[in-house]
Amino acid sequence: MTSSIDLHMHSNASDGVLPPAELVDLAHRHQVRCLALTDHDTVEGLAEAARAAEHLGMRFIPGIELSVSWERVDVHVVGLGIDRTNPGLLAGIEQQEQKREERALRIGERLERKGFSGAWEGARRLAGEATVTRTHFGRWLVEAGHVPNLQAAFKRYLRRGKAGYVQSEWAALETVIGWIAGAGGQAVLAHPLRYPLNQRKLRRLLDEFAATGGIGMEVVSGHQTPDRTELLAQLCDWHGLQGSCGSDFHSPEQTWLVPGRIPAFPRRCRPIWKEWPDIASYLDPAA
Ligand code: AMP
Ligand code: MN
Ligand code: MN
Ligand code: MN
Repeated sequence: MTSSIDLHMHSNASDGVLPPAELVDLAHRHQVRCLALTDHDTVEGLAEAARAAEHLGMRFIPGIELSVSWERVDVHVVGLGIDRTNPGLLAGIEQQEQKREERALRIGERLERKGFSGAWEGARRLAGEATVTRTHFGRWLVEAGHVPNLQAAFKRYLRRGKAGYVQSEWAALETVIGWIAGAGGQAVLAHPLRYPLNQRKLRRLLDEFAATGGIGMEVVSGHQTPDRTELLAQLCDWHGLQGSCGSDFHSPEQTWLVPGRIPAFPRRCRPIWKEWPDIASYLDPAA
């Protein structure tokens, strides 16, 4: 199923591989007409993506995916429609980036102890101008021939509980929702089924998210089975949230993930874009 709206994507301003303008171009070729760039804890790619989208007649939503520590679990909150020059948001991003760089050094040390010499330097090089993410360590492990692919890198070394995992204290849920709202954006809980939370705990997270100013949750993410879409639609309903959708695209190498190729948006959910000005002309009549 393809969607003309994709509100979750990454460029090489964080852990995606394509420069922002190339990402927008690829999305356009896949019939996406409204897109958000949502890089991890950075707004660096937004200006370039906005220019490219305007050039192609697409609707561009400036976004971000912020890391949150919630009860010692890493949770991702997407901000849609943010003002990328907002001082409060920028100060928050600065804090997060500092934590990322500190964590990267520690991940590097841990991988080094495991016998992978040059891990930090390698990840740092692959990140280029961006802050180092675990994905960069993963790509370096692949490049150096230590693992066959990125999934294996996470599974063996980078996941929680593995040798290269370092717990980081990201900002609190309330704080991050505050940054997004303060920058005029809508806070959306990203991929709710991808956290190590049982359903009771997930529902507590959703309660807290909605009570502290969260507006929406992703009900459709790349590569998702129909029963999961149904469960997410139900949760969205129960918690009085609006629905969002996005591929979480990172790289053309992940051939199973393509911009805009996501399951159909469930009819029972209220789309978060419903009241965005002039949005209708960019969407499929079905959306
Ligand atoms: P970080 O924010 O630096 O902790 O890195 C998190 C990122 O790692 C996510 O946004 C994903 O892009 C990537 N990631 C997490 N788990 C996996 C996995 N199993 N396979 C591939 N990429 C993953
Ligand atoms: Mn990522
Ligand atoms: Mn995420
Ligand atoms: Mn993402």
